[in-house]
Amino acid sequence: MQLRIYDTLQRRVVPFTTERPGEVRMYTCGPTVYRPVHLGNLRSYLLADWLRRALELFGNRVTAVKNITDVGHMRQEAVERGEDKVIAAALAAGKTPKEIAESYEAAFHVDERRLGILRATHFPRATDHVPEMVAIIRTLIARGFAYEVEGTVYFAVRRFPGYGKLSGNVGTALKHGVRAELDPRKRDEADFALWKRAEPDRPLVWESPWGPGFPGWHIECSAMSTRYLGERFDLHTGGVDNVFPHHEDEIAQSEAAFGHASVRHWVHGQHLLAGGLKMAKSARNAVTVDDLVELGIDPLAFRYECLLTHYRAPMHFSLGALRQSAEGLAHLRQRIRHWAQLADDAEPDEAARERWLALFREAVADDLNLPSALAILQRCAVDPATGDRTRLAVALAADTVLGLDLASVASEHVHAPREVLASVEQHRAARAAVDYARADLLRASFDGYRVDDVSGGGAVVSRGDRRVAARERRTISSAKELPDRRADPASLSWSIAVVTSEYPADLARCCASLLRFLPADAELLVLDSGSGADAQARLDAIAASDERVHAVFADRDLGDGAARNALLRIARGRFILELDTSIELVGDLLGPLARALAEPRVGLAGPWGLRSNDLKQFAEVTTGDVDAVQGYCLAARRDVLLEIGGFDERYRFYRNLDIAVSLAIGERGYRARALGSEHVRRHAHRLWESLSEDERLKRSRRNFDRMYRRFHGRARLLAGTA
Ligand code: AMP
Ligand code: ZN
Repeated sequence: MQLRIYDTLQRRVVPFTTERPGEVRMYTCGPTVYRPVHLGNLRSYLLADWLRRALELFGNRVTAVKNITDVGHMRQEAVERGEDKVIAAALAAGKTPKEIAESYEAAFHVDERRLGILRATHFPRATDHVPEMVAIIRTLIARGFAYEVEGTVYFAVRRFPGYGKLSGNVGTALKHGVRAELDPRKRDEADFALWKRAEPDRPLVWESPWGPGFPGWHIECSAMSTRYLGERFDLHTGGVDNVFPHHEDEIAQSEAAFGHASVRHWVHGQHLLAGGLKMAKSARNAVTVDDLVELGIDPLAFRYECLLTHYRAPMHFSLGALRQSAEGLAHLRQRIRHWAQLADDAEPDEAARERWLALFREAVADDLNLPSALAILQRCAVDPATGDRTRLAVALAADTVLGLDLASVASEHVHAPREVLASVEQHRAARAAVDYARADLLRASFDGYRVDDVSGGGAVVSRGDRRVAARERRTISSAKELPDRRADPASLSWSIAVVTSEYPADLARCCASLLRFLPADAELLVLDSGSGADAQARLDAIAASDERVHAVFADRDLGDGAARNALLRIARGRFILELDTSIELVGDLLGPLARALAEPRVGLAGPWGLRSNDLKQFAEVTTGDVDAVQGYCLAARRDVLLEIGGFDERYRFYRNLDIAVSLAIGERGYRARALGSEHVRRHAHRLWESLSEDERLKRSRRNFDRMYRRFHGRARLLAGTA
């Protein structure tokens, strides 16, 4: 496969070609080491890293060079203008520029490692390559492209006809681009310094044919790229701010000196912005990797976040968005652990793996479309037809490009201490004995590892420092505190609405069974109606394990009708399935339900229906037109539910609420269908079982009376028990 990439010089997406087959030589403008690198710099280094990994994926051997600017640029920007407080403080503390550069260079390597950036093949320092720079400058003077005035050498921009071809910065625009140097001895305002004469007290000075001095900024990259990659190499990267003047000047120097083109492809990444401005130390909006660590945010969350924005689009930085990305990464990691530790299949399916990876590679090849590549991985992760081991194999292969260190997440359990693994074993045994209460107690953390219950059985070990602390749980007292999406058009296929109160094991069983069959473009909405802490924690864990799950916590029992309306208020699915926690899905129920509801005249459907002649006696049926659908598992079109105004909130207890809503839908002329129970299993209804005979009668009676008063007039229209 061949990468197609936007080439800044050609101003279009082009096939990526190399000088030598199967070999890529690339150069990236590295850090100026007078301060820590910030996340903006790192966004540019991430681009270089992803390009390198992509080119390796496509079968190339890559030599990567990233320079360390420890002279000149630092001098110009920081020392002369006296802007940099860090270097000023360090000098005040008696440090030399070399010591400063060394400490920030070391910190830069640590930061790159924390972001999973592969080490370059070479990290040449500018100060170690001054002779190479002097050699190029001499050639430029000899060839008439540069001139010396009083120990300073300038590049004569007008002598190089191609000047401006990279940036489009020519003519008057050019003059505006160059503001920094105001030397009256320059022949042309646009000329730039290749070598500068040193003022007497300068600490870093080199001897040269033009006397003591130091190199300009741009010349270092011409010298170091040539030294390690040759006069012609394949790829040069940097941030868009490098296009002019840095890379424009680099082209002029190299091409004028060598007499031929030097760089095959130029690729530039858009900026990271913060508060609308380019992130930069001088803009005072710089955030460093240390800052993230201090805030308790995994640096790889930033890498994950950068994957979500194409490299040619500016990216807006905010801590809120970064925290969300941290949660996204945490979800992905937890999935990896599930697949690695609880896989339900023996071997990866090679054909399926190849199919997913072909899609992934195509996205990567398409101008490095990593947002789309990541989306393919997410699709694979929830595809019901793909087994766990295949998903894991796809994720690990994709991660050779993404670089999220997923392989180490997949082997966390292997490195866990023995007592952690023993706890998982005990946990399994407890599960096998259906001792849910005990299983819950085994949830624990030791030695930096966590053991978590998994809905559907089993336990998963994870490294605690890779888990994101759950955001503080917000509870609601009424549905009004939730966003009202009822007027929005449906944007998902299904919303599954589950109202739960205590009995966390039932909830976990219900959700796990459902999630196996839930399409990627569907949501599972769970409202906890006033459970205690244990059941709430269980729901938190379910929500954290799958981004299709949204949990809402009410601070009290809202009542069944109101709770269902609360979920209807936020639901985005075209179809709604009201599901009781006593139900377990054992097959694809949603497919047949969606087909039944796609018929405009059908308003609701479910496995079990009820027929009645008189609204007093009801018979359960599993096929054909019915008068009501049983509320344990009742599917309806969202627009129909909204048309009737949702559920009657006077029904605090669940019984007869299903009949009332079915009859209200029937009143509007919609049919109700029973489809049969082959895809569902009904377990004990814990709430019902927990009630005394007296209590059952009392609560049912109230609801029955309410239903009968409202609908008895419809009795003659019913389908009946016929
Ligand atoms: P510097 O240390 O300023 O020479 O920058 C090193 C690299 O980081 C260069 O490739 C710049 O283009 C890049 N860079 C600087 N600021 C940003 C930013 N806010 N967003 C993206 N890249 C940046
Ligand atoms: Zn450079």
